[in-house]
Amino acid sequence: MDDATVLRLSEVVSGYGELPVLWGIDLSVTKDETLVILGANGAGKSTMIKTIIGELPLKSGKIEILGEDVSGLKIHKRIDLGVAYMSELGVFPTLSIQENLVLGAYNTRRTLVKERLEEIFGLFPELKGRRKALAGSLSGGQRKLLGVGKALMSDPKILIMDEPSSGLSPLYVKEVISSLRSITGKGRAMVIAEQNVSFLELSDRVCVIEGGKVSFEGSTSEFENTEVLHRAFFGIQG
Ligand code: ATP
Repeated sequence: MDDATVLRLSEVVSGYGELPVLWGIDLSVTKDETLVILGANGAGKSTMIKTIIGELPLKSGKIEILGEDVSGLKIHKRIDLGVAYMSELGVFPTLSIQENLVLGAYNTRRTLVKERLEEIFGLFPELKGRRKALAGSLSGGQRKLLGVGKALMSDPKILIMDEPSSGLSPLYVKEVISSLRSITGKGRAMVIAEQNVSFLELSDRVCVIEGGKVSFEGSTSEFENTEVLHRAFFGIQG
């Protein structure tokens, strides 16, 4: 694994029962890169995310994070290595915005927490003015950003998001994309699983999953010129 590679999947096979959902995934992400994993419903995106973060065990293959083989490691060990995961359920509606953010810093030195909070409020100013408000009072889009902010509180090297667009109106999706743009690059890799092609606005590279296999992997501009997009998302046979 060269220095720039922060995440590598080699021949990853995983799933829930006897039969795998993912059939031998090879993929790597470098340190400043934003990778969008695209796929239709049921293609295996969430399964891939769960396997990367360690929620689902590997059947075979290998996962490396920052050069370390994490294939057998539990979630918290992977988090300690610098992975943060923004899940749909990551935000607690009955806690305030600030309290939610502080929870995201549970493995961070106390003296750094205040500084991190201000960094997050700097990135997402719409949360700053409402820091004492309950997370449950936020709009769907703001709640997603709070989830991202919470994940960023641990200053991760790799930020992983599973379907940030889910449940959002097109307007909120636009807002979330524009806020996420401010955190791409900057020495942090981002992996976003999505079925909404608007997220390609953020990606350097794209990986398309079809039927639990990678059917395309390359730069966003290469992707936009292929027929994979049409086949995978609009059901048009190329
Ligand atoms: P979506 O956008 O709908 O979540 P996805 O690409 O994330 O789609 P996965 O959720 O990874 O797809 O699902 C891939 C396959 O695994 C599907 O056939 C799904 O039915 C199956 N699957 C997902 N979760 C489970 C589970 N907990 N137990 C058994 N099978 C599951």
